[in-house]
Amino acid sequence: MANSAKQRSSGHKHKKQFGQNFLNNGRVIDQIVASIRPRKDDHMVEIGPGEAALTTPLIEIVARLEIIEIDNDLITPLKIKFATKPAFKLHHTDALAFDYARLLDDSPGKLLRIIGNLPYNISSPLLFHLLQYGHQIKDMHFMLQKEVVDRLTAKPGIKAYGRLSVMIQYACETEYLFTVGPENFTPPPKVDSAIVRLVPYTNKPFIADNESCFADLVKQAFSQKRKTLRNNLKGWLNSEQIISCEIDPSTRAETIPVAKFVELANLYNKLQNQSNKAFSHHRNS
Ligand code: SAM
Repeated sequence: MANSAKQRSSGHKHKKQFGQNFLNNGRVIDQIVASIRPRKDDHMVEIGPGEAALTTPLIEIVARLEIIEIDNDLITPLKIKFATKPAFKLHHTDALAFDYARLLDDSPGKLLRIIGNLPYNISSPLLFHLLQYGHQIKDMHFMLQKEVVDRLTAKPGIKAYGRLSVMIQYACETEYLFTVGPENFTPPPKVDSAIVRLVPYTNKPFIADNESCFADLVKQAFSQKRKTLRNNLKGWLNSEQIISCEIDPSTRAETIPVAKFVELANLYNKLQNQSNKAFSHHRNS
């Protein structure tokens, strides 16, 4: 067995590669469940149930609880534990590759509620994967590294505000709920954790005309944190074009609100479309 695996009383060996820090404090578990506000008719999805710290209270409340677990060793114990619960459905797979839309096939119109004490090493890719299903998701409650929750909820001008803040806040309302210390997990992680609520917008307040262009521009704007917007966007937008969006080109990306990133991306997209059109016109004439 790998050195990263640690034995605990249940016999399960914690696997570091799956980010296995299991909740061990009933009071914190109750607090998390209360913050999720589970309802009888919810169709809930739990990512990474582990030894069912959150699954156990939730299954008593919600109508449907789909759980996604990757670790082979946890599958049989979970199946045995919940064998008599009709709400329970297990997906033994990787949450990063899972097609969440297929869960809705037999209940059209009903949105998913996603929860999880997430393995920290996959939190950002998982959030980006889930954003693709924004229209099928009612809300998400996650335990993540506190530093990541700080970034998800940071406002412009705050040190934690960066690419992740802009991309998630473009798609969701975000709320920092509370901090959870390392002593509430077995084994304890090295850093604090926190619970975040993410609610995908039904109607986004600011709409990028081309979302992949928006994502590229935001990435480029934050490519070198210490550089000004003018420098980071060199070859994308010049100073006059940045000023036309009422943004000072000598500021840094970390001060620019989501709405302004959308404006910059829409301008860039428009200019790209115009130059593509001119190019094809030139070729055809
Ligand atoms: N929910 C439990 C708790 O709060 O005590 C366990 C949380 S533990 C931090 C993360 C869980 O996610 C583990 O059960 C781990 O095996 C599972 N996991 C890790 N990577 C995963 C993946 N890619 N897809 C699905 N589950 C994963």
